[in-house]
Amino acid sequence: MMRRSLLLALLIVLGAAAPAIAQFPIFDAHIHYSRLDWEVYTPERALSILAAAGVRRAIVSSTPDDGTLKLYEKAPKGVVPFLRPYRTRDDMGSWPSDPGVQAYVEERLKRGIYRGIGEFHLGVADVGAPTVVRIAELAAERDLFLQAHVDDVTIEKLLTLYPKVRFLWAHAGMSASAPTVGRLLERFPKLWVELALRTDVAHGGTLDPEWRVVFVKYPDRFMVGTDTWVTARWEIVRDYHRAVQAWLAQLPRDVGDRLEKWRAIVPGNG
Ligand SMILES: [Zn+2]
Repeated sequence: MMRRSLLLALLIVLGAAAPAIAQFPIFDAHIHYSRLDWEVYTPERALSILAAAGVRRAIVSSTPDDGTLKLYEKAPKGVVPFLRPYRTRDDMGSWPSDPGVQAYVEERLKRGIYRGIGEFHLGVADVGAPTVVRIAELAAERDLFLQAHVDDVTIEKLLTLYPKVRFLWAHAGMSASAPTVGRLLERFPKLWVELALRTDVAHGGTLDPEWRVVFVKYPDRFMVGTDTWVTARWEIVRDYHRAVQAWLAQLPRDVGDRLEKWRAIVPGNG
């Protein structure tokens, strides 16, 4: 009991000494909880890592999809399930033309819990492949997002070929510049962008001026994300979001707030 009150007193002192950094409730648009992850972290442990990092809600997908369901069952309010079209990692390259993937996606969607399909990888040559066409139809019918890890040429082709579908562009194309992203946002109203792994947004902790311009112009079209693409990433979720909080705090408060409340996918998300 004494130790506990000592700890509490210490926390109060530390809190008072810390600089007043705005703490944004984080919406993480890029979490995976795949087979290798669930073999190391129980769902409870994974959820507690997210909570400790200030993540209030997260888009979760996994290979196979069972990992997403494990987290969703424990935290239906905190987990926004996306259906990844990979049964195993081997599907990553062949899925666009695989009828087995199409059947898997159609079967899983019957659960009715998903808000999107993805994250998937795709090359520009496969934009019109049969399973991609079918997934785009399903997304348009059910108003689901497609979370695509593709380059800028491929996202442009997807948006042109499937104009009824809302796209969430993973990693902002990984290497697309802020002005390129801005031009695509202007041209395509059904494009949203997440920033997982984009350390160029705030190299050395300072918000990049070109990114600032597009965040201020399109605050409702951006999301942050971690991408737990390998199991080791679960260990850095907390530090990653500490850095995110630091650059969010360099934006006007309402812009930072809007980046973190993805109303497009969770209406009324607060
Ligand atoms: Zn990913």
